[in-house]
Amino acid sequence: MNQSVRKYLLVSLFSVAGLNIHAQRSCGFQEYAVERLKKNPSLYHERLINFAEQNETLRTDSVSGAEPPVIQIPVVVHVLYHFPYEKLSDSYIMRQIEILNECFRRKNADTVNTPQYFRPLAADCRIEFHLAKSDPRRRSTQGIVRKYTPVKYWNNDDKMKFSASMGSDAWDSKSYLNIWVCNLERTAGYSSLPGDHPALDGIVIDMEAFGLTGLNNGYDLGKTLVHEAGHWLGLKHIWGDRYCGDDDVQDTPKQSGYTVGCPTGIRVSCGNAPYGDMYMNYMDLTHDACVNLFTKGQMEKMRSLFTPGGLRSSLLQSKGLEPPLYSEIPLPEEDPKWLYPQLFPNPAYDVIHLDLTYDSRWTGKTIQLINSNGRLLSLIPVRSSLVSFSVKHLPAGVYFLRSRKEDGETLQIRFVKQ
Ligand SMILES: [Zn+2]
Repeated sequence: MNQSVRKYLLVSLFSVAGLNIHAQRSCGFQEYAVERLKKNPSLYHERLINFAEQNETLRTDSVSGAEPPVIQIPVVVHVLYHFPYEKLSDSYIMRQIEILNECFRRKNADTVNTPQYFRPLAADCRIEFHLAKSDPRRRSTQGIVRKYTPVKYWNNDDKMKFSASMGSDAWDSKSYLNIWVCNLERTAGYSSLPGDHPALDGIVIDMEAFGLTGLNNGYDLGKTLVHEAGHWLGLKHIWGDRYCGDDDVQDTPKQSGYTVGCPTGIRVSCGNAPYGDMYMNYMDLTHDACVNLFTKGQMEKMRSLFTPGGLRSSLLQSKGLEPPLYSEIPLPEEDPKWLYPQLFPNPAYDVIHLDLTYDSRWTGKTIQLINSNGRLLSLIPVRSSLVSFSVKHLPAGVYFLRSRKEDGETLQIRFVKQ
């Protein structure tokens, strides 16, 4: 089974009666949150929930009918590409950000699918996301960082958030929402918890769930980012991550578990009659085409993070959307000189050089020198990204260099000694 199929297959923790197996958005938020909370128990839930409850004054002013201000969040998208087709274009990324805003502002056309009985609960969250105009040093930017990485698949272990592990370092998360787009091996995405370590703060999203992918797998309309942005703003899954669990939001009905596929009609669980599960909520796992609302309660919870002292309030002081102070033209984004090992000269006479700059993980490995009969002649240690060795003593003929590293990549290069 290939990667893309596996990531979106149902792995059911909750038994949902009467449903066939559908592809399912595999959100890694809960699993990640549990791990982070083990490491730092004071991190999240209590602090966040208490804060939200104390900030009644900051809730939507429903009495006077005044609209709360629109919150604008500067965004930087880090595109970690390995294959050239993963180097997403500006327009592709911009369309995904538009979709995010349409959903948060309740301007998406599919809000007409919100059932009548839930419409009074549906909210325009008045939260918007915009690609940054100034980088952390106030230089001009488009809010997009594209970076080649030798890493082909990533786990939910935050390595993509650090240059040192061949990812891309976060921009100051007090001032920017960092979104890392990369090839996630197991899940469609995950978000950090509000209040977590600044270097880890942000959303990680699988290349195959970001934007209008055209993959026709149920998660190809850009709503995974909407879901993860909900987590980033303090929302839990609508089923509370356990049977009839609580998401700490007043106006979302309890429901037995997550939803798969794209159901229709009323589905009652956990005594939530007459209207049943709110499976069209962005914080369920329903297909992209079938999610279309945040509730007012969810909006209030998210917006409470921006009140004075709130875990996201620093974003309101960000200069990320202000014009840059330095309009120097950023360096063009260049692919690495090559994406593969380079051997030269070939044919060789005395010394041969093998350049492994494209992937520092070769350092420390050993390369086998093999002749055309398959006989191992010597072992060459890789002490740095450029390996040079003498072939003077070799009889003229064809030779091979062979090695392998942890991620399964093998090296096999043929050269000729003259
Ligand atoms: Zn989730």
